[in-house]
Amino acid sequence: MRSHSFEFYNIALFAVILCRYFLVAGAAYWFFYSSFSQSFINRRLPHRSPSWPVIRHDITLSVLSAAVFAVAAAFILFSYQQGATCLYADPHKYGLWYLAVSYGAVLILQDAYFYFSHRGFHHPRLFPWLHQGHHRSRYPTPWTSFAFDPLEAVVQALFLVGVVFILPLHFITVIAVLTTMTVWAVLNHLGPDRLPTLFPHHWLGQWVIGPAHHSIHHLKYTVHYGLYFTFWDRLLGTQDPKYTQALSSFLPSPIDKA
Ligand SMILES: [Zn+2]
Ligand SMILES: [Zn+2]
Repeated sequence: MRSHSFEFYNIALFAVILCRYFLVAGAAYWFFYSSFSQSFINRRLPHRSPSWPVIRHDITLSVLSAAVFAVAAAFILFSYQQGATCLYADPHKYGLWYLAVSYGAVLILQDAYFYFSHRGFHHPRLFPWLHQGHHRSRYPTPWTSFAFDPLEAVVQALFLVGVVFILPLHFITVIAVLTTMTVWAVLNHLGPDRLPTLFPHHWLGQWVIGPAHHSIHHLKYTVHYGLYFTFWDRLLGTQDPKYTQALSSFLPSPIDKA
């Protein structure tokens, strides 16, 4: 990998992160909020689309988040250049199996980090400084997926900075994690009515966070703090009991299976 200055990485990565946001959030918004999509949305789950001023606010915060994440990513690449991180380039160094295991490990670690930091952000003293901006959208859209107050963006980016110094990760794994993060965040902010009710509601669905689960967080604040998995919400009693009941009614009962 050719060496570049910190400034070069910072500017290039800001452009990449911003393009990724506009492409993924824009495509999801264009598709799921178009007049075509209105024909198949679930009317049983009313979801008011936010006004343009709220969407503009989400986009402004997302541009600031992109700037914060670009500094973090530039720092990671610059540190890699100095040989200071645990990042590696040869996929066979730890075996191919390790690529998949390390990918799963990062998602599990990030989910726990997000859950506990997110609960912290909801403390009345921290909320106005770290998390109010994200909750400006009571009815989120894909544009909300990257809308963090700058201080929250710093806390989220610190996870990625920390993990590359602790866990050996191949670049493919890092890209897979970043892609998962982006797609999952957009899915979680689609609004509850854009996909089949309580998506995903297959047998694994009760462990996985989707748009219905996260939309409830934007309405209620005191439940559903997880990022990818419902594990921490279920374990620590922050899953809305009504969501659990509704979900179980969508899962096939043992009688249905027989
Ligand atoms: Zn959200
Ligand atoms: Zn929140």
